[in-house]
Amino acid sequence: MPIHLLPESLQNQIAAGEVVERPASIVKELVENSVDAHAQNIQIEIENGGITKIRVIDDGKGMNTSDAQKCFTRYATSKISKIDDLFSLSSFGFRGEALASIASVALVTLRTKPPTEPIGTEIIYKQTTHTPPKHLESRPCSMPHGTEIIVENIFWNVPARRKFLKPETTETREIVKIIENFAISLPHISFSLTVNGTEKISVLKEGLKNRAKNILGHDITQHFLPLFYKSENIQISGFTTHYNYHRSNKTRQYIFVNTRMVTADSLVSSAVAQAYETLLPRGKFPSFILHITLRPDEVDVNVHPRKTQVKFLNASTVFTAIKQAFSSALESTQAKTHNTHSPQPHNPSFIPSLSTQNKHSSVHSSAHTPPTIPKPSSPSLSPPVHTPSFPNPISTQQNFLEHHHCETTDTPYETKQPLENWKIIGQIRNSFIVVEEPTGIRIVDQHAAHERVRLESLTEKLQTKKIVSQPLLTPCVFSLSISDKERLLEQTPYLQSLGFEIEDFGKNEIAIHAVPSGNNHIDIAKLFREVLDNCDFFEPEFSDITHSFTKKLLSYTACRGAKMFGDPLSMSEMEALIRDWKQCKTQHSCAHGRPVSVLYPFDEIEKKCGRC
Ligand code: ADP
Ligand code: MG
Repeated sequence: MPIHLLPESLQNQIAAGEVVERPASIVKELVENSVDAHAQNIQIEIENGGITKIRVIDDGKGMNTSDAQKCFTRYATSKISKIDDLFSLSSFGFRGEALASIASVALVTLRTKPPTEPIGTEIIYKQTTHTPPKHLESRPCSMPHGTEIIVENIFWNVPARRKFLKPETTETREIVKIIENFAISLPHISFSLTVNGTEKISVLKEGLKNRAKNILGHDITQHFLPLFYKSENIQISGFTTHYNYHRSNKTRQYIFVNTRMVTADSLVSSAVAQAYETLLPRGKFPSFILHITLRPDEVDVNVHPRKTQVKFLNASTVFTAIKQAFSSALESTQAKTHNTHSPQPHNPSFIPSLSTQNKHSSVHSSAHTPPTIPKPSSPSLSPPVHTPSFPNPISTQQNFLEHHHCETTDTPYETKQPLENWKIIGQIRNSFIVVEEPTGIRIVDQHAAHERVRLESLTEKLQTKKIVSQPLLTPCVFSLSISDKERLLEQTPYLQSLGFEIEDFGKNEIAIHAVPSGNNHIDIAKLFREVLDNCDFFEPEFSDITHSFTKKLLSYTACRGAKMFGDPLSMSEMEALIRDWKQCKTQHSCAHGRPVSVLYPFDEIEKKCGRC
């Protein structure tokens, strides 16, 4: 094939690949344009995960007819005019590519009117690979000031790319995440997001802390410590979580540089890691909202076509500022902790839900009409009565306490198989059970063994459809980010098959009304946090136990309800546990793959003692 110049429409479609990866990237570009147009209110509506329709309406400065006709041209921008402008940039956009890219792979309708003009302009734009390549209809329209853009049928003309789109739920979730990010970054702007006609996000202008609470949920923000640092060139603000609150991944870390969201940044990560140093268990991370504000010429934003990465001119200044801000926040709380004897760092058994659950159950002043739930009876903190088989609905709190006092636990303990030639010697450090076997001494990790027993019991019940759901007298209500809530609600059928009855409780709250029988003592909010952190739910096959969500939920349920490291056990409890563990199909590992026991053969012990 001889060298030839590609037609403009094809150039645009190829270039669009960098900017328009999926519906969420279109939403991001359109909302950025609205923010750049100084909008105070931005409404986003999507249908079918944004694949069939995205509509963004703002009350910004709009465009006159001449600009509206130019804005779909590649490299047409009102934000920069010379290269130096890139280094004094105060807008999100500057490349003049987004609208051209979007219009090359979707059908676009634009309505726009500046406040000073009496009448607006409507443009219907269609770009094809045929001749003529562009089709642009322009006519006057009446509308309030601002801009409305409707993007329909994404990739209608690029089927190869349409094939790569994920199911509607996944695309929707990505859009929810984008709007969450904008909402956290720009609390002075009102945002609303409507998904298939249902409003999912609605936040009015407010302060950062309230905004964070409305978007991420009280369960995180109640652990927030303010971040602050200021020097001549840089300012740090935002919030980070107390070291007693931690997550298993970094997805709830929001980083904004001059309000621009940036994806995980290694400089930020290592500064934060140094500030938390030994305060967090290994593999655990804080959640934070970090706003880095510095002079525009101190940061290069033109590093990535999607503008999600930045380069700092003085990386070490930024590093020091971040580390300092986080260290001071943590130091202030450590001083307080010391004075008030509140929980210490490294306390892995931090259990917020006992108080949280009850607090949440009774406080609901949300504008949304919450579903009716029984009013919580005043929780009794007196020592509970032992109820081995939990025949009645019992409140979460009562059961939590019962779990820590009861002699027997769930169903597996009802089996009475003999221990054969195994002899329980006793418990050490309230954590390991020492067993004498014919060939040696076995040391069993009591938590790991119990977790394995519970996992196999739950799995079998699920497979034989014998999971019985047990209602909670007081529903467990907990808050989470709006995108996490969507992720959980998508899994309602699997949760039901496992005995969890879950309900959308309005705003960013979820109510759990029932749990698998025998599990009402577990810290449900914590269980769901762990599942959300460790499961991305992207699997299209949702059918059964092989579904990763179900697997994760089973293993975390098994873990949460199991005897803990440090729980004293009576001889009969140890016998019951060892007996049940011996009957497991897989004995060597716990639900998370860790070894359950170690055997010290007698011949080795004898050798070491010089007996043979
Ligand atoms: P960029 O944002 O990089 O300039 P875009 O393709 O996103 O490029 O937009 C092109 C131009 O269209 C912008 O520079 C701006 O002048 C105008 N524009 C786009 N969206 C809006 C909007 N919502 N309100 C006002 N003007 C807009
Ligand atoms: Mg733009």
